[in-house]
Amino acid sequence: MTAAASRIPFLAGNWKMHKDRASAVQLARAIAEGVRDISGREVAIFPPYPFIEAVAHAVNGTPVEIGAQECRAEDSGAFTGDVSAPMIASVGATLCLVGHSERRQYHAETNEGCNRKILSLLSHGILPIYCVGETLAERDAIRTFDVLETQLVEGLARLSPAEVGRLVVAYEPVWAIGTGRVATPEQAQEAHAFIRTVVARIAGADISGRIRIQYGGSVKAENVDELMACEDVDGALVGGASLLAADFLRIVRFESRGS
Ligand code: PEP
Repeated sequence: MTAAASRIPFLAGNWKMHKDRASAVQLARAIAEGVRDISGREVAIFPPYPFIEAVAHAVNGTPVEIGAQECRAEDSGAFTGDVSAPMIASVGATLCLVGHSERRQYHAETNEGCNRKILSLLSHGILPIYCVGETLAERDAIRTFDVLETQLVEGLARLSPAEVGRLVVAYEPVWAIGTGRVATPEQAQEAHAFIRTVVARIAGADISGRIRIQYGGSVKAENVDELMACEDVDGALVGGASLLAADFLRIVRFESRGS
């Protein structure tokens, strides 16, 4: 089996700050129903914090995994409004996004801060999805690789190779998030292959061959097949198109790699 074939495609929906409790549970149920018979694909949804427990309950016993969109690195303390890794674990989350560009932009999230969150999540048995990606200005300045390398080296500092092997990386070019402007398959493949070479330097060739790298940025039913056909694209992190069950289920059922 090739390294690419050993990487189970991972499709995840980031609901951001959308839905109320009832519509979150309804959407989760529809997704769970739609993936009941799925095999060879991993599916996760990331509802807002207040709905995690209800959504986890709604999908219990189905292949759908639940994640949180964010967490703080400390376990507890005087951090009004924040939520910790053990807290999200206690309500059923097994995954957590780290370093989403909206957190970097609106909450001054740094690579060092992401690193502390990743370490905390791993120590509580939660799988981090570490988001990296360049802005349009950085791409235009031919700084994409520099930015990705810095985000990876600083974000994954102090992790053992085995710990690196437990996480997922999401390549999300900031200019493609929520803009309808998707990276071309060539742009996605180039960035993903580069990320894999940096991970190889950090954690070794074996881990880099096994780690899954999702693409995120305006993924839709119309473009998922060509993105998923790229050698180093192992899944998708989906925002807008994950808010309707039919759209997200079509993404989950992408056609490529012989499917
Ligand atoms: C995201 O929020 O991670 C994202 C990729 O959003 P969208 O699919 O809406 O671009």
